[in-house]
Amino acid sequence: MLGFFKKKNAESLPGLLTTKAAQKGIKPTFYSSRVLEVRRETADCVSVALEIPHPETFSFVPGQYLTLKTQIQGAEVRRSYSLCSSPLSGELRVAIKQVEQGVFSTWANTELKEGDTLEMMPPNGQFALEIDPSNEQTYVGFAAGSGITPVMSILKTLLERAPKAKFILFYGNRKAHSIIFKSELEDLKDQYMGRLEVHHVLSREDQGNDLLHGRIDEARAAKLAEHIPGVKDAAGHFLCGP
Ligand SMILES: Cc1cc2nc3c(=O)[nH]c(=O)nc-3n(C[C@H](O)[C@H](O)[C@H](O)COP(=O)(O)OP(=O)(O)OC[C@H]3O[C@@H](n4cnc5c(N)ncnc54)[C@H](O)[C@@H]3O)c2cc1C
Repeated sequence: MLGFFKKKNAESLPGLLTTKAAQKGIKPTFYSSRVLEVRRETADCVSVALEIPHPETFSFVPGQYLTLKTQIQGAEVRRSYSLCSSPLSGELRVAIKQVEQGVFSTWANTELKEGDTLEMMPPNGQFALEIDPSNEQTYVGFAAGSGITPVMSILKTLLERAPKAKFILFYGNRKAHSIIFKSELEDLKDQYMGRLEVHHVLSREDQGNDLLHGRIDEARAAKLAEHIPGVKDAAGHFLCGP
């Protein structure tokens, strides 16, 4: 599930594509890409850095996804994965969480390795934020499990590109050890002191705060918005489930 609600239109920037520009004139065809790194993020999630076959074609807006294609046991398999890297980093990286009996995600978590080749389509998708450096607004993300991937790209790009903007993240997981990008988020909080708030909501671990114990559903989101300053009045809210 993906959703983005914004109050104001942000102007696009030279150097950072708009979703329209990103899709203009790009052929929906597959390109071969070498796997540069497979990094274990949690027990059931790897992130995969991919070689950029054609820089212009693979420019992206934070929040967009890639469609990957490969052969698994003689059959062609295609799946979509959101980019979790910031376009400003020059890296094309996705994170793939293994789902029970899932064909592609199990293969990626158990067999995919550095040096392998994958086929991929250029970035696509409208769940994205076009970022102006003069933006001084606060944005909010509600993510659960692997739903963090596009939100991660958006928040990293916002914090780097717009020095006065803020991001408040509510991130739902079962337990602390299953949190993808836990230490990267801690590092970002330190790097962008006072501009990134992260609230972990855990369904199977008690953190000593009822508000943060359970699943992020409509009622909990409403309570969080009630209690945490800046959430209700934010310029945009991103929602992404697993
Ligand atoms: C725009 C977009 C972005 C996405 N971004 C990410 C991301 O960043 N990270 C991420 O991890 N995922 C992401 N996904 C999800 C991803 O595309 C895959 O759906 C996911 O990885 C599962 O694929 P799979 O091949 O492993 O599972 P599949 O083989 O497709 O199976 C999925 C589930 O269905 C069950 N199933 C399959 N066949 C049957 C059947 N015949 N009967 C009953 N049950 C069945 C399986 O047991 C499994 O639980 C995204 C999806 C979209 C659309």
